[in-house]
Amino acid sequence: QADSTEEIGFKGHGMLAPFTAGWQSTDVHPLVIDRSEGAYVYDINGKKYIDALAGLWCTALGGSEPRLVKAATEQLNKLPFYHSFWNRTTKPSLDLANDVLNMFTAREMGKVFFANSGSEANDSQVKLVWYYNNALGRPKKKKFIARSKSYHGSTLISASLSGLPALHQKFDLPAPFVLHTDCPHYWRFHLPDETEEEFSTRLANNLENLILKEGPETIAAFIAEPVMGAGGVILPPKTYFEKIQAVLKKYDVLLIADEVITAFGRLGTMFGCDMYNIQPDLVSVAKALSSAYMPIAAILVSPEIADVVHSQSSKLGSFAHGFTYSGHPVACAVAIEALKIYKERNITEHVNKIAPRFQEGIKAFSGSPIVGEIRGLGLILGTEFVDNKSPNDPFPAEWGVGSIFGAECEKRGMLIRVAGDNIMLSPPLIMTPDEVEEIVSKYGGALKILRKELRS
Ligand code: PLP
Repeated sequence: QADSTEEIGFKGHGMLAPFTAGWQSTDVHPLVIDRSEGAYVYDINGKKYIDALAGLWCTALGGSEPRLVKAATEQLNKLPFYHSFWNRTTKPSLDLANDVLNMFTAREMGKVFFANSGSEANDSQVKLVWYYNNALGRPKKKKFIARSKSYHGSTLISASLSGLPALHQKFDLPAPFVLHTDCPHYWRFHLPDETEEEFSTRLANNLENLILKEGPETIAAFIAEPVMGAGGVILPPKTYFEKIQAVLKKYDVLLIADEVITAFGRLGTMFGCDMYNIQPDLVSVAKALSSAYMPIAAILVSPEIADVVHSQSSKLGSFAHGFTYSGHPVACAVAIEALKIYKERNITEHVNKIAPRFQEGIKAFSGSPIVGEIRGLGLILGTEFVDNKSPNDPFPAEWGVGSIFGAECEKRGMLIRVAGDNIMLSPPLIMTPDEVEEIVSKYGGALKILRKELRS
């Protein structure tokens, strides 16, 4: 069961559907979404759903923010496209880079590179780190360490970084320069009588041993989501990042924070790095950067790395990397407006206002005999269904427990994320207290039916 989160295909109508993202197919009877309004989406038959996953953890401002539409329209009318190559760029691209840099305060960052998706951002991180180490004359320092159950994307390199077996097995991945260390899931993996702090110490020791075994001169970077999303909403145990960062520092290993889900308020802080006192060398953001109204991602680069990449460019040649749509002016214009809205509406304060009821309301179901753990923070929450409340007692996979729950939610007009027997919620940040109540009530109703089905 620990690995059942590997199924990243969506499940709808109670049936296991193949992984169809990007592959449009009619033979799996997909739920066809037609329009959106605030925290709700409607299917082509007019049925209304509360979007308890904010699309795919991304429509932070909900589905009908007129200011974002206006920003896109104005930019489309003015300059629908120009590229950012060869010392040419556009004003929205420059302005957004400044806005993102100013917004990230966990430490000073120096430069921003734009990509179109989280996967591209993480792929670009690997290339940038390799370039950086080549520029510093240490070409052997090429390996990356990621964590089991992490999700960093679907391209060959970002899928390699991901720690979900289904992303590897069918594709001869991970790439040989990617290693995986422990998933920091205390509930599932702690030893008897081990405290959270002791668990964190053990994981930091395991990371150190892995670095020593491979040779510190070969380890380039460690990548981590502040809170693991697709792996099942896994929060770092107490003192985890403090201890991990100490190990990385000791061996001159860069830290990449994958904030594709956590950036821009989801945890109740503007970035996950603020929540956990993480001082990364590189950061990936996407999703809420534009509230998903346009595809855009960014990597934030520390001044030290930016300086090296810059100053060495004559020796190595320029950092030959970029996409046609890097810094797309329309996507940037929308993202600029989204960040403005987060600030004007004090989005973190709003999240902190509604999150306690969201968390408490759902966690009130923790006592259910089929619930192993409900975990979350801010507006992200995961539930793991197990038998006998034990992480070691999964339900038989063929029972499709998570899928039954997902289908019940769908029936009741709520869309969630199902991965094996983990289900996840990550609603729009703009939710009202009434919408929080609706999620809690629909969750409770679906749980009741699931229990009944498991008893029969
Ligand atoms: N990193 C994290 C933490 C994610 O959750 C995701 C997507 O869910 C990605 C990277 C990949 O982003 P994208 O789907 O935009 O390529």
